[in-house]
Amino acid sequence: MQLPEEFIQYATEALGEERSAVLFREIEDGTEMTSVRVNPLKGSADVDGLEKVPWSSLGYYLPQRPVFTLDPLFHAGGYYVQEASSMYMELVRDAIEADFAGRYGGEDLSGGGFFARNIAALDLCAAPGGKTTHLASLLGKDSLLVSNEVIKSRAVVLADNVAKWGTDNIVVTNNDPSDFGAFEGYFNLVVVDAPCSGEGLFRKDSQAVEEWSPANVNLCAQRQQRILADIWPAVAPGGYLVYSTCTYNKLENDGNLRFLQETLGAIMTLTLFPTASESGVISTEFGGLQFVPGLVKGEGQFVAVVHKPYGDFEDSGAGSVRSGKKKKGGKEGKKSAVQFEKGCNYLPDNYIKVLQGDLVKGYRDTLFERIRFVEERLRVVLGGVAIAEKKGKDYVPHADLALQGVMADMVARNALPGGISAVEVGREDALRFLAKEALVLPGAPLGYVLLVYKGLGLGFVKNLGNRTNNLLPMARRIRMNING
Ligand code: SAM
Repeated sequence: MQLPEEFIQYATEALGEERSAVLFREIEDGTEMTSVRVNPLKGSADVDGLEKVPWSSLGYYLPQRPVFTLDPLFHAGGYYVQEASSMYMELVRDAIEADFAGRYGGEDLSGGGFFARNIAALDLCAAPGGKTTHLASLLGKDSLLVSNEVIKSRAVVLADNVAKWGTDNIVVTNNDPSDFGAFEGYFNLVVVDAPCSGEGLFRKDSQAVEEWSPANVNLCAQRQQRILADIWPAVAPGGYLVYSTCTYNKLENDGNLRFLQETLGAIMTLTLFPTASESGVISTEFGGLQFVPGLVKGEGQFVAVVHKPYGDFEDSGAGSVRSGKKKKGGKEGKKSAVQFEKGCNYLPDNYIKVLQGDLVKGYRDTLFERIRFVEERLRVVLGGVAIAEKKGKDYVPHADLALQGVMADMVARNALPGGISAVEVGREDALRFLAKEALVLPGAPLGYVLLVYKGLGLGFVKNLGNRTNNLLPMARRIRMNING
């Protein structure tokens, strides 16, 4: 593979002769690795004997790439397939906690560190959902995570991955960064995993090499600055912004840290801990972390954390709902009416049930106000838990309900609500269900049955005795040959 001259020049400038030589060799000769990050909410992935990703307690390398489509646990949200260097979120958490304790340690931290609080977080460029699902595993359960993607088709994929992950505190939105004007000072944590020139993917994707040019790097750097400037006001004073790209060049990385610092007034937060440096992660001149293939077991990735100064944390919007402008076309100052639905008992009483058209949705009571606040101001693709479709007096359980962490918990405690029973199936039946074939479940209770594979909900069938109706949505159906 012929690397562009200017790329060689840019990378050498950013990494130095020695390290860039390792990188170029690795791009030419290195082999791609497969890694997964397990879902602690569901905790049934078998990771015995797997090599750990050094910087993530949840990440593991696989000896070879399996056909994930043929693993029911993949569909049940038991794990997320993610390139290892992208699993940087725990390094970010540790850096923020250290910075937070350093700044506010003299004050009362009895509420715990930053991540232990009920914060509002935004993942601005979130599809397909790698950083979002990782962050969701680190946040407290009463924190709110708005996971946004500007491209509609990608937002739909993001929503699907979020639904599989099974947390009820993520709202998926489909907005441009400039749409967050109503959220001034609202988010204690903002992640900008920016669209970039994709240098870090050169080893995996030869098209990324073909599309690379200095002009495109410039264009990307300018777009990144626009995104950062658009979203900076939404960061709460005292809060943090995480900036990342999968590139090496200075324009998109340190250059934008300089922009954050000099133009937006951010304070750099140094983040190179031994956990990272001992596994080959290096730091850049401006205090970002750089993952370089050959130095680490992973692809190319850059990440930095900055702090937004002033203001004290308690007053920084954490957990509070602030007044703001409605989304375009919304009725200024008037909340849309909420129709409560009391009859559906598929989720416990701490979920507030609301009817939207025929759809019954559940919002955990501690999150209700904040999710509604977001729903009234942004274009929401997924918010709250889709529980059931109301058909006359019947509630047909929704596919997303099967994937909720709270369902896995109820299955484990043998405490499913009235009207739903659970049946454990083996791999073959699980795959047949996921291919939307009809199953026969001899001896299973009639009515709505949650199919469970290794303790995790896959979806619902309606058991009619001699056959079942498969309630899996067409869009989630496995299309490949399941017997292959
Ligand atoms: N964070 C994601 C993950 O971990 O799975 C990967 C995000 S990818 C590096 C960057 C995302 O930014 C893409 O999904 C892309 O559609 C989106 N994007 C493209 N142009 C954008 C813009 N002008 N503003 C905000 N996001 C944009």
